[in-house]
Amino acid sequence: MANADIIIIGAGPAGLSAAIYAARSGHSVIVLEKNAYGGQIINTPSVENYPGIKNVSGFDFATELYEQAQSFGAEVRFVEAKAFWREDGNWLVDVGKEILSCRALILAAGASNRLLGLPHEKDWVGSGISFCANCDGAFYKGKDVAVAGGGNTALEDAAFLSNICNKVYLIHRRNAFRGEKHLSDKLREKENVELVLNVTIEELLGEERLGGVRVRDKETGEVRDITVNGLFVAVGQVPATDPFSEQLNLDEGGYVIAKEDGKTDQEGLFVAGDCREKALRQLTTAASDGANAAISAIGWLEG
Ligand code: NAP
Repeated sequence: MANADIIIIGAGPAGLSAAIYAARSGHSVIVLEKNAYGGQIINTPSVENYPGIKNVSGFDFATELYEQAQSFGAEVRFVEAKAFWREDGNWLVDVGKEILSCRALILAAGASNRLLGLPHEKDWVGSGISFCANCDGAFYKGKDVAVAGGGNTALEDAAFLSNICNKVYLIHRRNAFRGEKHLSDKLREKENVELVLNVTIEELLGEERLGGVRVRDKETGEVRDITVNGLFVAVGQVPATDPFSEQLNLDEGGYVIAKEDGKTDQEGLFVAGDCREKALRQLTTAASDGANAAISAIGWLEG
């Protein structure tokens, strides 16, 4: 007998939304999470664009969602799903110490931080390199920092850090931002924020820990060393599909190819959230994906 009707990999907004819908439909649900619940949203200081909620911290939002899923009977287990495969009509999931089985599987594993790919970037995490302004910003109070990236995360990080730090350099590889205009407009008004645009970060400077970044202007080739105590890397995400790639039909970016209903090309396998190929990765679309994948899974189970 299977351990659950539905196993969901990932307790971020997509996975927990799927858990709410699946558990409310009367199916047994196990959610697997290798880190903390909530996914990337727990690093967002304030969510202002989730319909119906004017303002909430990412952590509070995630905690409500986590408790809500459990209130309907979803069981959350803090283990890592290492692999999954199909056998005798069930999906089996290797979680290290045991193999769990289910009839329908929803992959909502999300995405992780993309690296710039520079020497020292990983070794200096905690020694000047950070991927989370909300978590680590306070360590740089009154100091000079840089943020790398041009999406909403980088713009929000720069705004958040500008309230704590002495000076914030926002370093982006293009002249135009991918993030929302109202966020970049706000940044342009801040006296302690300098936009360093159309440059490539060539080198992380320092010994033992980060002391600065070397950037090269993409048009003129001019090199500039910027002295900072911290660099917040916010250059997007990579989908957490690598461990499962043999089972999945992925696009060139590593995202699972599936439409809004979350149905994959495999029987009983569904996908939701940031690891699915789609145009917009937001809290709203993660929640919507979770609901859609759960409804598809329920339909498949009961069909
Ligand atoms: P993103 O939108 O994918 O932006 C990544 C940024 O990093 C882009 O500006 C990109 O440059 C740059 N980049 C990518 N690879 C790079 C590299 N190797 N070197 C230098 N720069 C590089 O990622 P995100 O900002 O993390 O946002 C992810 C999703 O979450 C988005 O959909 C975003 O809207 C959403 N989000 C929403 C909120 C909110 O609504 N409050 C907050 C945070 C994030 P190019 O522009 O040149 O490609």
